Amino acid sequence: MAATVIDGKAVAASVCGRVRAEVEELTAELGRPPGLATVLVGDDPASAIYVRRKREACEEVGIRSIHHEPDGSISQEDLLELVGELNDSDEVDGILVQLPLPDQIDSAVIVNSLDPDKDVDGLTPISAGRLARGEPGLVPCTPQGIMELLASQGVDPSGREAVIVGRSNLVGRPVFSLLLGANATVTICHSRTRDLGEVCRRAEILVAAAGQPRLITGDMVRPGATVIDVGTNRTDDGLVGDVDFDAAVEVAGAITPVPGGVGPMTIAMLLANTVEAARLRHKAAATSGRPS
Ligand code: NAP
Repeated sequence: MAATVIDGKAVAASVCGRVRAEVEELTAELGRPPGLATVLVGDDPASAIYVRRKREACEEVGIRSIHHEPDGSISQEDLLELVGELNDSDEVDGILVQLPLPDQIDSAVIVNSLDPDKDVDGLTPISAGRLARGEPGLVPCTPQGIMELLASQGVDPSGREAVIVGRSNLVGRPVFSLLLGANATVTICHSRTRDLGEVCRRAEILVAAAGQPRLITGDMVRPGATVIDVGTNRTDDGLVGDVDFDAAVEVAGAITPVPGGVGPMTIAMLLANTVEAARLRHKAAATSGRPS
């Protein structure tokens, strides 16, 4: 029997609905809407589209979008100064610096300069450390979206065999920490894994994030597994995932399509993170007596 195809757009819409209600409540509490600062450096057309979508999504749920678009020739020092101002601003709850940055700028230096409490992309070493240690903090958006997709299917990772293909800081490693935190037994595969098919066949939850078109064939999928395909690969056949969907859909219990699976979750989780950041800052300010 063919698997349930998980509708990422519908799950993302439901997250946005939840966020909209939380924004309303928080706006009344703070006396101002939560604010997300976006920084777009230079004129990369793809980055411009991503940032525009994020800003539009903010406005749809009532989050204030505070946008900065410095010239592509900005120096690292001046960009650090801008991030410093946003770190210090009481109106800004979350900061998103769109990557990639121009060659004269060391992205790691900029990312590391973000206030971890405003790091809504969850990219700073402090955010990564908090997540790895199971401490509260801001979690990268795509991995968090994967957990929402599992929850939407009623899949509780506790006690289950989970396999992740890919160990990047952006996807594989944070998904590992989230699934481990949810009490799954987690295995992480990468390019040196000896028998990928054998490991993947153990998975009740299989997350493919390798950036290799149709790497996961139907025979690598355990019957009834929940398959989350993070891959977005542009090929002559159009946009395809890391999973051979047509074969895997016949074996899995539930599977995300590409596009329309994980992709729509990323912006929804960015909005959720902005609200979470505002809430945490407000709580911290209330305890310290500072304004929020
Ligand atoms: P990445 O940084 O390139 O990492 C890829 C990982 O896959 C690496 O750990 C690599 O292993 C592993 N890998 C590559 N080929 C493999 C193979 N043949 N067998 C086993 N493992 C293999 O990629 P990423 O940033 O994590 O992104 C992964 C995919 O997700 C990409 O297609 C990306 O476009 C997509 N993505 C989608 C979203 C979304 O919103 N939908 C968000 C983020 C990323 P090594 O470490 O050994 O090299």
